Amino acid sequence: MTPGEAPGSSGTGSGARPRPPIRTRILRLTGGKGDRAKIAEAASVLQGGGLVVFPTETVYGLGANALSAEAVEGIFRVKGRPSDNPLIVHLSSSRELPRVARRWPAVAERLAARFWPGPLTLVLPKHPRVPSVTTAGLGTVAVRVPGHPVARRLIAAAGVPIAAPSANLSGRPSLTSPSHLVEELTGRVEVLLLGGDSPLGVESTVVDVTARPPVVLRPGGLSLERIRRTVPSVRAPSPSRRAGSSPPRSPGLRHRHYAPRARMTVYVGPPRQVWQALRTRQDELARAGVGSALLVSQESPLRGRDVWVLGSRRRPSAVARRLFSAIREADARGFPEMLVEGFPSRGLGLAVMDRLLRASEGRRVVLPPGRGRRTRAGRARPQAPKKREGSFP
Ligand code: AMP
Ligand code: MG
Repeated sequence: MTPGEAPGSSGTGSGARPRPPIRTRILRLTGGKGDRAKIAEAASVLQGGGLVVFPTETVYGLGANALSAEAVEGIFRVKGRPSDNPLIVHLSSSRELPRVARRWPAVAERLAARFWPGPLTLVLPKHPRVPSVTTAGLGTVAVRVPGHPVARRLIAAAGVPIAAPSANLSGRPSLTSPSHLVEELTGRVEVLLLGGDSPLGVESTVVDVTARPPVVLRPGGLSLERIRRTVPSVRAPSPSRRAGSSPPRSPGLRHRHYAPRARMTVYVGPPRQVWQALRTRQDELARAGVGSALLVSQESPLRGRDVWVLGSRRRPSAVARRLFSAIREADARGFPEMLVEGFPSRGLGLAVMDRLLRASEGRRVVLPPGRGRRTRAGRARPQAPKKREGSFP
């Protein structure tokens, strides 16, 4: 495939000052010899203070030189990201750690040795050379070595640590597929380096190793179960952290996240009850003239033009991989409502449920086993027959 250039459609991030659109180089990686030049071109844009969207094994990142305050400000501007939401700094290898972290406890060393390169982010004491805009003024810095070979080659070629949040505009679902990237970011960044669909589909797991014992701030592409096999004392994210309130340690979690345009509601409980409730609700909405998309498991009997199958309830990794693109595909069809089957919170299911409950801003219907439909915790469902605060499923 030939690298293309596309003129921009718009030059503003949501909430950002209007700017003229910039010319975006769209560089498609093919796995062939030509990739080397494309990665070198993207690296020189990073060195010059520009913005490059690049593939990682979790989701696509929107990268800039982490050590340049001006370059990093570009990330916040383009995404429309609140300035109190710190960025993750990406390294090509753990040998680069002293460039961005002042020190790291033994537990960080154990986790890094076991899981880097990979979908694990460690929060560590920040080195003074990292500008405060990168860490949103915090004394700590979030760091990871990505597992995707393109990401590592790009960072190594740039020769600097790369700050890279998820490439989506702030508040929107993360980007995991090249077509969605081209749609959302053409005209906003210098380079889109496209390397196929993201293999994991959800962001990294963030662990604060400055806390004792260490604590998961955000569940993600590395399961808590696997982390605990290396460091058993690691604490799970607290229910409030999972459900979207404002933990002091990870300021970014307090903002609206992953939200589709449709109003999303998550249905949790025994699968059969959930499937029945989804169909009933879709019929109810249809009678009122309101279209709805269903996002369900492979096991569900629900199928049709308005149904997206995310994957098997027994394979949360497959569900994670499909999650954000399915949300975007369903959203592109303009349904006002999105009704989603909840998944078991084991393994990557914890990250899947975290993203769904944030995307739905906590709207969920909890179905008890073996009885008719009962509804609770429906902040935005005034018609719910019974409301009370639900616990995390
Ligand atoms: P994103 O890159 O958009 O997926 O978001 C990065 C996540 O890492 C957000 O939830 C941030 O709050 C979190 N994060 C980044 N830096 C820090 C830090 N120094 N301390 C705690 N959390 C952080
Ligand atoms: Mg993000």
